[in-house]
Amino acid sequence: MRIGELSANQDIKSLGGELHRLVEDWFPICRSITGEGLREQLRRIGAAIPVTMHEVPSGTQLFDWTTPKEWNIRDAYVMDEAGNRVVDFQAHNLHVLGYSVPIKRAMSLEELKQHCFTLPDHADWIPYRTSYYKEQWGFCLTQRQLDTLPDGTYEVCIDSRLADGALTYGECVIPGAEEAEFLISAHACHPSLANDNLSALAVATRIASALQRVARRYTYRFLFAPGAIGAIAWLARNEDVARRIRHGLILACLGDSGPSSYKRSRRGNSAIDACATYVLEQSGHPHEIMDFTPYGYDERQYCSPGFNLPVGCFMRTPPGRYAEYHSSADNLEFVKPAALADSFVKLARIIEVIENDGVYRNLNPKCEPQLGKRGLYTAIGGRTDTKALEMAMLWVLNFSDGDHSLLDIARRSRLDFGNLRAAADALLDARLLEPAPAPDSTGSQERRN
Ligand code: ZN
Repeated sequence: MRIGELSANQDIKSLGGELHRLVEDWFPICRSITGEGLREQLRRIGAAIPVTMHEVPSGTQLFDWTTPKEWNIRDAYVMDEAGNRVVDFQAHNLHVLGYSVPIKRAMSLEELKQHCFTLPDHADWIPYRTSYYKEQWGFCLTQRQLDTLPDGTYEVCIDSRLADGALTYGECVIPGAEEAEFLISAHACHPSLANDNLSALAVATRIASALQRVARRYTYRFLFAPGAIGAIAWLARNEDVARRIRHGLILACLGDSGPSSYKRSRRGNSAIDACATYVLEQSGHPHEIMDFTPYGYDERQYCSPGFNLPVGCFMRTPPGRYAEYHSSADNLEFVKPAALADSFVKLARIIEVIENDGVYRNLNPKCEPQLGKRGLYTAIGGRTDTKALEMAMLWVLNFSDGDHSLLDIARRSRLDFGNLRAAADALLDARLLEPAPAPDSTGSQERRN
């Protein structure tokens, strides 16, 4: 993969529109951590890229967890005495507490209220609430809706089914020249919420589609799974594959208009940490780099001490830091085409840099080699950026001591990574450099030569 092959020449407007249309298309599906909604989502992704669906039967032990029962829902409502649906699942799938057990009976407003969830500070928004591991039922509604319900008797119906079935996740594996893998993981379990996490499902799908069309060094594995239990299920069933993960990113909340952010892996010094930091710094846009914490998305699982994988989290505004988070206000208007396209381009750059990184050894380390007699000052002449390439050669020669990767040199020099890659290629051709084993802690990492 060449630098720029994924990220450059994107028509940002049409890319943003394309990504937003995917989010719109998928928005109405009632996803959950199991069930037909989740399967439908994976099938829709599968229409764009090859997705293998895996089913983990209910009751399967997954480390300290057990695969939950499968939940499906057809309908739900609260009906007043006049026969009006005053709360209606058909109007918005957030109206039902996720994983609600079935119920159908009449009750007083007072009793109903004990099963109602609202957001008093945002009286027109429906909250997103679930109860996966405690069997109960409930409705989520706007505070304004609740306030207008008169005393009386209400018919409450949740036509759901909680029974033995399976937990589903989808994988798309795009083989590369190396067995070493780059994992891209996004949770697929939220119902009608756009930023969290249809934005990331759309960006991941589009990047997987683009990766299929370019030569790849790494094998890319895309995982679309329910949050937490899906990542736990995948790790429990793929410990051998997990050992091949050289770099990884969790994608979430990629469509809001806040700045890009990156949460480091638990290791804190992985190549993916350096690379994401470099790309966000180089973008010239406001951004935030955060240290690892053991809460948030599936970094909790991938970076648990028994795995400690080099997996960071690429986002815009982190979860819980925007008011619309986990509410009906995380809708199609909240997600912006320009933000989706910008997230795509930055992710593409991260992939390009990782693909082109390498560690080298200067074969003429005692004083500078004479570049002129090797034609290196002119070998790449005729380009307007010749000076930048000469500078890049000096940096690559000086720091190629087997301990610094091109990415390290890029961060230290603040030079463009593409120029450093071109300089290293010219120096390799002139036999002034040789590939060196990577110095990092992952051991067997094979580097580009
Ligand atoms: Zn969420």
